[in-house]
Amino acid sequence: MASSVSANPLEQRATRLTDSHGRVIRDLRVSVTDRCNYKCVYCRTGELGAQYPELRIDEYLRLISLFVDMGIEKVRITGGEPLLRKGLLELIHELAQMRTRDGDRLELALTTNGHLLEDLAGPLRDAGLHRVTVSMDAVDTETFERITRVPGSFGRVVAGIRAAKAAGLTPLKVNCVLLRGFNEQEVEAFAHFARQEDVIVRFIEFMPLEEDRLWSPEIVVSMAEIVERITKVLPLLPLPPNEASETARRYGFEDGRGEIGIIAPVTQAFCGACSRVRLTSDGKIRTCLFSQVEHDLYGRMRAGAGDDELKAYIAHTVQGKEARHHIGEPGFLKPSRSMVHIGG
Ligand code: SAM
Repeated sequence: MASSVSANPLEQRATRLTDSHGRVIRDLRVSVTDRCNYKCVYCRTGELGAQYPELRIDEYLRLISLFVDMGIEKVRITGGEPLLRKGLLELIHELAQMRTRDGDRLELALTTNGHLLEDLAGPLRDAGLHRVTVSMDAVDTETFERITRVPGSFGRVVAGIRAAKAAGLTPLKVNCVLLRGFNEQEVEAFAHFARQEDVIVRFIEFMPLEEDRLWSPEIVVSMAEIVERITKVLPLLPLPPNEASETARRYGFEDGRGEIGIIAPVTQAFCGACSRVRLTSDGKIRTCLFSQVEHDLYGRMRAGAGDDELKAYIAHTVQGKEARHHIGEPGFLKPSRSMVHIGG
């Protein structure tokens, strides 16, 4: 795909994608569908099916290439469940051909529930994907399937994780959202799982982004509690961040074997270092998970806007990125879309 990167480094720096709070935007999360084959109790109401349209693969490619021209270095494909999306391998293959403004390969990652991963891990790797994150909210079969509401899902996800590791989609991260009263008892078992399976388990604090109204501060299992509980069974040592914008606080086990991370948007917000924007499955830019407004990039493209016009729109939109979210504050408003429809 054609790139309009300037050869002049000064000019390049002047047009980097930044917001009005001085943050440089390097990460793009792209939802390729809002359909999902799981009905996780903390995410979905239980209804399956898409609520929003999906762009064609060539349309995603055109829009993503504009972001890459403007300084995006990492693309994470998500959904909904991205492995349900027809044309995904083609999308990844084409993204793997793109180059960043510095001439490097794009960092390509994907977040999945893992249900279809066993068969797709090899083809995804061959297409050019670098890493996957698999969502898994319990290591106990019964608890897991009570959350996903899909019988047989636990075995499929574990098989998917192992296949992804065997295919070299590593380091493999496993994301677990803990909820009091659902799966909080899984914390210690997950620490052992991280070591046994040689994966990085990352606990995510539950955010008010569900379709139902489930969220309350009491249901959130905090970072402090997770660290305290794991330390009692397996002592932890803090590790330095891999990069400034890393969402997870990293911890290693004292004996040097294994790693966990904690993503604490509720109790330890990391908005100040945020380097992300999102593109929804229907081509809207979201500058924050909790944005109250969406920016219709696809609408402009469909109306015939040229690349320069679309880039100007992206730059203007990103400038307006919110300083931070307001979870837990008086007057907090949930966004109009829930996580599954935004792209987690
Ligand atoms: N279907 C894919 C998957 O399961 O990973 C990708 C989409 S899913 C919405 C992305 C991630 O968001 C999952 O790890 C999921 O657990 C997480 N998630 C969903 N709702 C959440 C919430 N309210 N708070 C925190 N994380 C949430």
